[in-house]
Amino acid sequence: MVRDYYGILGIERGAGPDEIKRAYRRLARELHPDVNPDPEAQERFREVSTAYEVLTDPEKRRIVDLGGDPLSNGGAGGGADPFSAFGFGDIMDAFFGAAGGGRGRGPRSRVQPGADALIRMQLNLEECATGVQRELAVDTAVVCSDCGGSGCAPGCSPTVCDICGGSGEVQTVQRSFLGQVVTSRPCPTCRGFGEVIPDPCRQCAGDGRVRVRRSVGVRIPAGVADGMRVRLAGQGEVGAGGGPAGDLYVEVEEIPHDVFTRDGADLHCTVSLPMTAAALGTTLPLPTLDGVEELHVEPGTQTGTVRTLRGKGMPRLRSTGRVDGQGDLMVHIDVAVPTKLDKEQIELLRQLARLRGEEQPDLAVGSRNGHGLFSRLRDSFGGR
Ligand SMILES: [Zn+2]
Ligand SMILES: [Zn+2]
Repeated sequence: MVRDYYGILGIERGAGPDEIKRAYRRLARELHPDVNPDPEAQERFREVSTAYEVLTDPEKRRIVDLGGDPLSNGGAGGGADPFSAFGFGDIMDAFFGAAGGGRGRGPRSRVQPGADALIRMQLNLEECATGVQRELAVDTAVVCSDCGGSGCAPGCSPTVCDICGGSGEVQTVQRSFLGQVVTSRPCPTCRGFGEVIPDPCRQCAGDGRVRVRRSVGVRIPAGVADGMRVRLAGQGEVGAGGGPAGDLYVEVEEIPHDVFTRDGADLHCTVSLPMTAAALGTTLPLPTLDGVEELHVEPGTQTGTVRTLRGKGMPRLRSTGRVDGQGDLMVHIDVAVPTKLDKEQIELLRQLARLRGEEQPDLAVGSRNGHGLFSRLRDSFGGR
């Protein structure tokens, strides 16, 4: 059976190379296993890729045009599946052109960009409010001072790897039921660099970098919160071969405060007021992050009342790194009912209860509209 390679790509017999490539790209976009997991599409993708491979190979295409099939076993005792002979390289060629397509082959560079580093810094609430300037001890890789990053001992320089001939990779050919499979992997002798250092630097063992502990100054702006990161460009790890350093991130770890809890730029605290002060009203000193403020308590203040002190919260840090105003301080008031009363206090409270007609409290009195649930309940049971 002769396969219709032109038909598989949906093109005319006389199609030029560009037309073949266009047809293949169009079909690959639709059928590639990465975009189309359907098994039938994968089968078609194999066919399409094979047709592309055959029609872009002048010798194979000539056989097709003569009415033959360059991939038929032709009694050669095959067993090889003609539709297996495509690889990712062909796709890259079709999409990017043969020259320099994709990741490109060849040795990898000894010089690699460095990784970012992260350190954590504990700050209390006051420090988060004001911002801090600190020296931090950081352990990162830095350029080796002995070899300047080259990894070579004095007087030595890298030589071409004689195992891979400088290509950085070695090929292995395996025979399998799919036919010959050629795989390449990084050269184990030079680790893919294509070159070896005959006499590595003593201090860094050829890596071009060494780990040291050093001191880095960091400025944390006012208004930071738990989990926020300050980036110090180029203060991270130096890369292999003395490659450019990554960044250093300093992450804020906020220590919870004893009095204030934080909600963005707003602060919350709870104050406990004696029952008498809540009833009579009072003014009391309230320590805040900005110093002591006067808290005015209106007569008749209830538990759950929230007093807002505008601008007494945390600096509001915008994503631009600028501070834009201050949050508020929310004071939650909790009225404390006395638990230990002496004889005289009990007598006074009884007297007060008598004066207020509260010796036999009516539960409905407590509801908001005066005709609450409890009075309706009581009425329905035919009470008093
Ligand atoms: Zn060195
Ligand atoms: Zn090598």
